[in-house]
Amino acid sequence: MSIITLDNVTKNFGGLTAVDHVSFEVQEGEIFGLIGPNGSGKTTTFNLINHYFQVSSGKIIFKGQEITDKKTFEIARLGVGRTFQVVKPLKRLTVEDNIVAASFARESSFNGARNVAREMISFCHLEEVAHQKAGGLPIAGRKRLEIARALATRPSLLLLDETAAGLNPSELDEAIDIIKNIRSKLGITIVIVEHIMKVIMSISDRIHAIAHGATIAEGSPAEVAKNPTVIEAYLGSDYNMERFLNA
Ligand code: ADP
Ligand code: MG
Repeated sequence: MSIITLDNVTKNFGGLTAVDHVSFEVQEGEIFGLIGPNGSGKTTTFNLINHYFQVSSGKIIFKGQEITDKKTFEIARLGVGRTFQVVKPLKRLTVEDNIVAASFARESSFNGARNVAREMISFCHLEEVAHQKAGGLPIAGRKRLEIARALATRPSLLLLDETAAGLNPSELDEAIDIIKNIRSKLGITIVIVEHIMKVIMSISDRIHAIAHGATIAEGSPAEVAKNPTVIEAYLGSDYNMERFLNA
């Protein structure tokens, strides 16, 4: 069953078409990759799903219900969670309190919120830094905190925007494990925007590729990795994307 459907979604910023008649359908339980060069409209697509921006035209349907014109907080309450490319924790609060604050999206009691936060701390391997101020966390910890905060809102669909950017190889492997566990242990469907090919190719069930806001390909990682239009758009035609399959 489809959990989210974009139907001919377009976003114009003045004369610039940032998202150009994009349509895709994500199935419940999928890890769906959204790729494209810098400035191709990936983050804008997420901002349209969350209604940070109003679509110029097209429809967005979540679990059978049109959400195109719903407010950001309503969409969150329906079960769409997300992370941000530029991570902004509440710097003076501890890691745990940042997650507690996010938990209040669904929990009304402090104890309930605290319990959810502790569960997500363990899920995202943040135990050792739970009582540190979020502002002092290195990048890998900040990215995991961002995921934990999104999970604490109890989404059924999670939009991950470049959560692996800036990580070293061992941190990357840890991030890949966490993302796989989000689906397998929490049962959450994922749409992931990621530049790091090793991540996107190894965890996506299907990939949707865009360039200049418009769709250029959709298929399995193997299909997309050998699509000449994708390779050309991405990196120039001599780039071998297939080496990242099952990396
Ligand atoms: P990506 O995430 O794929 O790198 P973005 O979605 O951030 O790309 O940006 C797509 C295009 O839309 C870019 O040309 C960007 O400059 C433009 N854009 C994004 N947000 C805005 C905005 N709020 N106002 C005007 N232009 C924007
Ligand atoms: Mg972006």
